[in-house]
Amino acid sequence: MARYTGPVCRLCRREETKLFLKGEKCFTDKCALDKRPYPPGEHGRRRRKEKGYALQLREKQKARRIYGIQEAQFAKYYEMAAKKKGKTGEILLQFLERRLDNVVFRLGFALSRREARQLVNHGHIAVNGKKVDVPSYLVSPGEVIGLTARGKSVEKVKSNLSSPFRAAVPEWLSFDEKKQEGKVLSLPTREQIDLSIQEHLIVELYSK
Ligand code: SF4
Repeated sequence: MARYTGPVCRLCRREETKLFLKGEKCFTDKCALDKRPYPPGEHGRRRRKEKGYALQLREKQKARRIYGIQEAQFAKYYEMAAKKKGKTGEILLQFLERRLDNVVFRLGFALSRREARQLVNHGHIAVNGKKVDVPSYLVSPGEVIGLTARGKSVEKVKSNLSSPFRAAVPEWLSFDEKKQEGKVLSLPTREQIDLSIQEHLIVELYSK
């Protein structure tokens, strides 16, 4: 399936929640959801509360859109999570959080996951000193995430690191401001993932 290239604010309005897909704009009064807090389309304002399958589907779409992942890839993460011991929903979120593009966003090199993916794709990010240009790369404890030589000269990265809109670094990561590099301290626990996703609904959806 092709990547969604339409207006991203529409996705927030569809999920009726801020997905923070546009970086700085999400924190200003230009946010489309703040202006029009109802789903897009002719019947957007009249839509009824969803339940059952529709609710499960919405929760999956919300998670998929937050992390910017295509349907097939999301299903693969679910399969990987289901094979592991433990709570499938939490393990699924753990896989999503461990993606390199998400970590680049969490560390503050980018103000949105979209922007983070671009930085990775363009070869600006290094893991343990070596360039990694695969946004889906899964980080592991002990790994160090920093900028490549080219990445260090990107003005936008410099301004992102000093932006008031920069995300707080979660407890499972650390960031050395001087060296401008982050470290994976541990795998993220559910409590350390600050997203209001009801992962049990996603598990219910895939378990049908
Ligand atoms: Fe969503 Fe950000 Fe657009 Fe607001 S500005 S609707 S939070 S992507």
